[in-house]
Amino acid sequence: MCHVLVVDEASFSIRKAVVHYYETKEPFYLPGDLTEGEEVFLATKEGIFAFAEALFTEYTTRPEDPFWRIESDGSEASYVCLDLISVDLRHPLLGRPLEQLGMPSGSIDGKTRMKLLESWQFGYFEADVQTLDQAKQRRTERFNERNHLEPVARQCAFCNEARQSLLEWHVTPDGYQTVCPTCHRWLHQQMHQAVDTAAATEEHD
Ligand SMILES: [Zn+2]
Ligand SMILES: [Zn+2]
Repeated sequence: MCHVLVVDEASFSIRKAVVHYYETKEPFYLPGDLTEGEEVFLATKEGIFAFAEALFTEYTTRPEDPFWRIESDGSEASYVCLDLISVDLRHPLLGRPLEQLGMPSGSIDGKTRMKLLESWQFGYFEADVQTLDQAKQRRTERFNERNHLEPVARQCAFCNEARQSLLEWHVTPDGYQTVCPTCHRWLHQQMHQAVDTAAATEEHD
C-alpha cells in the first residue's frame, strides 16, 4: 500500500523535521495509522518533498518531538513511526500543490503510486555520474543543494535566467551559488570531466 500523508505546517515543522531526521537517520512519529512496510509520501498542501516507510503504528500520547509547534493535549491517538528514505525540498515535479497534481491525500491506487514513484525517482536520476564514488558524492551534494534553506538569489550566477521557480542552489567548496538547471548540469559535467582528466593524467605519470 502507498499513502500520501499531508501534514499541517502550522502544527508541525515538517520540512525542518525531515531534513533533521534524514541527517540523523532517526525514525520519527506523525499522527496516522499505517501498517508496517507501507510506503509514505510526505506532503504539505504545497506539495510532496519526502518518501518514507512506515515502521509501525502505536496508540499512545503524542511522542516527544521538538518540531511540534503546538502543545500536546495529553490525549491518546494513533502515531505512525516513519523511516525516511529520501528527502527533496525542491523536487521539480512535485513541488506543486496537491490539487494541481490532481492528487488525493490518504491511500492511493496502484496506478497513481507508479506515477508518483517514477516522478519522484526521476528527480534523482543522474546521467552524468560514471562511478559509484561519484554517485555517492553527488547524492550528498544533491541533498545539501536541495535542502539548503536560504532564499535563492535574483538570477543565475552564470546566465540571465531570473525565473525564481527554476533557480536552485549549487554547492561549491566556497559555499552556495544560485544557478539555473541548465548551468547547474553543465557545472557538474565540468566537475566530472576535471576529475576524469586528473585521474587519466595520474595513470600516465
Ligand atoms: Zn544559468
Ligand atoms: Zn550543484
